[in-house]
Amino acid sequence: MSSAAKQSGKSGKPIQRLLRTVFGVARLRMGQQEVIDSVLSGRDTLAIMPTGSGKSLCYQLPAALFAGATLVVSPLISLMQDQLEKLHELGITAVQLNSSLSRAEEEEAVARISQGGRLIIFCTPERLASAAFLSLLASAPPSLVVIDEAHCISHWGHDFRPAYLEIAAALRALGRPPVLALTATATEEVIADIATQLEARKLQVINTGIYRANLRYRVIQVTNAGEKQDTVLRLLRETSGVGIVYAATVKAVEDLAARLAELGESVTCYHGKLAARERKHKQELFMNGERRIMVATNAFGMGIDKPDTRFVIHLQVPANLEAYYQESGRAGRDGLPADCTLLYFQQDKRVQQFFLAKHYPTADDLAAIVVAAQGLPAKFAFAALASSLPEFSEGHLKVGVKLLKDGKLLRQNRRLGYSLKAPLASSPSYVQLAQIYVDKQERDKQALEQMVAYAQSGLCRWKLLLDYFGDAGDFERCCTCDNCQSPPALAAPISLDELPPASAQAQTPAPASRIAVGSRVRVPRFQIGTVLSVAGEQVTIAFPEDTTRTFMAEFVVPA
Ligand SMILES: [Zn+2]
Repeated sequence: MSSAAKQSGKSGKPIQRLLRTVFGVARLRMGQQEVIDSVLSGRDTLAIMPTGSGKSLCYQLPAALFAGATLVVSPLISLMQDQLEKLHELGITAVQLNSSLSRAEEEEAVARISQGGRLIIFCTPERLASAAFLSLLASAPPSLVVIDEAHCISHWGHDFRPAYLEIAAALRALGRPPVLALTATATEEVIADIATQLEARKLQVINTGIYRANLRYRVIQVTNAGEKQDTVLRLLRETSGVGIVYAATVKAVEDLAARLAELGESVTCYHGKLAARERKHKQELFMNGERRIMVATNAFGMGIDKPDTRFVIHLQVPANLEAYYQESGRAGRDGLPADCTLLYFQQDKRVQQFFLAKHYPTADDLAAIVVAAQGLPAKFAFAALASSLPEFSEGHLKVGVKLLKDGKLLRQNRRLGYSLKAPLASSPSYVQLAQIYVDKQERDKQALEQMVAYAQSGLCRWKLLLDYFGDAGDFERCCTCDNCQSPPALAAPISLDELPPASAQAQTPAPASRIAVGSRVRVPRFQIGTVLSVAGEQVTIAFPEDTTRTFMAEFVVPA
């Protein structure tokens, strides 16, 4: 029995009663008990739980037991409103503080917080960085701080957000209350980085696993843009129920949505270039079932919970497998079967490569920030720095400021203003400080390669995902993905005239064990390639132009 389980014995009764009477839940799901026990024992906890597995109960229940406030930091204002309404229905006091409130609403929330006592406070990471808000909280520091979407704090996470960098400083200002970090996915690297960023030396990590048996993964290879269009239209005709189609660019979203509307489909779309009000309206059309299909960029999704989503189709490879798992994982949260389909066109990799060429602060940028700061008063606000560096975006500047803080070349004062510090002989150079982002770019590149390898693999899709997250254990195959259902190279039917000539057929296909790595081979429909690896009956071959594909050995003949 784990120590957490032992403790649950002690706290079991009030928890059971609360569960039934307040939350109307008969018993906790796998993982929830362990997380709640860890939180109640005052430990810093990171809970990695798949979406739809009841993450919010993991803080709502402890919040109902603590004497003080529970502060929930979330990047998603739309989600806060949802949570707030649900909590009010349960009779739990909760307030939100974010940019969507009117002045009167904000004053009311502030008044409630200053009363102290048990309540749940929702805020954005930006709000947590505000001096006024921190001093309001400091009079009655929260019993627990919940960091939702915690992967956003990590440089290695797929959705890094500069605003999250302020959280550690805010926690210190609040006397470092216990933290519960929540996320649906985190690799080993991201876990370690979350611990570092939160300054949580003894982070209790509870990973309930990411496998969801109801999700059927498949990849459909297409050879040109037209074929991709035809395929997505066919898939949408053949598939019933509501679903999401992800495209990589705003233009691709608008084009497809227009095309579908022309064809009489019930469709709406979502991307970052729409005005806030329009985004909200379109999101609601999908969420409340008035539209069947949502065509969107990856701006649509974090915090979206539409359990009856029956399919998620990707028109392009996302930047990495974490992003793919999160986006595709929006399907089937009700536990019923759902399809996750990736349309793979080899050239799409270039679109992602383009996105990867993002600008992170360079050594020169750091030098420019210091020069600009030297022109300001000894203590200056972030906004003053921003206005003297108009060519920097806010996010870019925040990251640069964080690097300088990490290098102890910049100090963040109690009231969250800044001042420069004189460099010491031991101070790192700008080049050293910027190195972290040089590394990040290299990792981003590798992550894209892994995503592409997934698209081209002949192995069980779930096995590949679980391996990526270090969660495979003795998992062998899901039996529902395309590669489990029909072996590679048979998935795309080969027409008779594309079969190898009789002479080639007459050659006995080499048993997999006799296909040598590095040898030149030929496969129907494809050019001559070089064997990269042989696993069981599956042979992975590299073709010119950097593509790799996996085939059953029986289709592979020596060139
Ligand atoms: Zn499988």
